[in-house]
Amino acid sequence: MLVRLYPLVALTICWSIAQEPLPNCRYDDVATAHQSYQDWAITLLDTIYAVDPSYMPPDLVSVSEIGLTGDFRLRQVLLADLEALMAAAASAGHPLAIQSAFRSYDYQQRTFQYWVDRDGYEYALRSSARAGHSEHQLGTAIDFRSQDGPAPWDVSDWALTPAGGWMAEHAWQYGFVMSYPKDREQDTCYIYEPWHYRYVGKSTAKDIKQRETTLRAWLWTRQ
Ligand SMILES: [Zn+2]
Repeated sequence: MLVRLYPLVALTICWSIAQEPLPNCRYDDVATAHQSYQDWAITLLDTIYAVDPSYMPPDLVSVSEIGLTGDFRLRQVLLADLEALMAAAASAGHPLAIQSAFRSYDYQQRTFQYWVDRDGYEYALRSSARAGHSEHQLGTAIDFRSQDGPAPWDVSDWALTPAGGWMAEHAWQYGFVMSYPKDREQDTCYIYEPWHYRYVGKSTAKDIKQRETTLRAWLWTRQ
């Protein structure tokens, strides 16, 4: 009898996992499920889930490969779409530059400490990722700025600048998603970051836009 019940039990467990709602924001260190480098598009990172300290994509390349300036590295897979995005923004009269790209685990530790020292621990938790939790470790997240502007976080709302507004409207067409949109902190667990975009590919970016959902909520359904 017990043996015959097994499939039913397994099915029930699978169903209940699939139906779990998006977890409330909390601070934890749980290994994220999809850590294979080929799973870059569905790797969920938030305040709960993290990648291993050793996570470092093998195909990181300098952005100089597509003619961009700055000492930044990103994954090969997104370079063509990034190049098209940069060209389109420039053609529209709103040239962009990169403020930050891939960040190693060690670099994230220093970055997080910087924000703790500047703004205090509680605020740093909301505005910056603890090491291992940052999408920048994936090599597919970029902080953008206006080409001739200051750091985007030194502007009151970068999405209200011409370049930031262009990104908010068009980034999805090139496979990029704003990970932490305005007024969605309950879902994303981070304050609004109009400069931080993650590459997920065009079909996913379009789907997220059409559903008016957040990247974290979308990724949760793929875990
Ligand atoms: Zn960022």
